[in-house]
Amino acid sequence: MPHESPFHTDNPEYPPTHRNVYHDNSLCDHGKAIKQEHRIPGPGGRPRCDRCNTLASKEQQWPVLRAISAPFRLVGKLVTRLIGRQ
Ligand SMILES: [Zn+2]
Repeated sequence: MPHESPFHTDNPEYPPTHRNVYHDNSLCDHGKAIKQEHRIPGPGGRPRCDRCNTLASKEQQWPVLRAISAPFRLVGKLVTRLIGRQ
C-alpha cells in the first residue's frame, strides 16, 4: 500500500514545493525527500501535494477505467464479428 498517514514539515531545509504542502503517499518523491526526523504528523492545515494528488488519482482511475471498458471491449468484439460476417 503506497498510502501513509499524512505528514508535513516546516524545516527550512526543504523547498516550498515540499514544505508548503502535506504528503500522504509513500511513492511521492517530494515526500520521500523529507527525512523521518523532519516529519510532523498530520496535514498541518496545508493543501495536499500535487504529486500525491496525481498518484492518488492514478490509483483510483485505473481499476475503474478497466471495469468500465471491459463490457465495451466485449461488445466491440461482437460487433466486429457481426460486421465481418456480412
Ligand atoms: Zn507528496
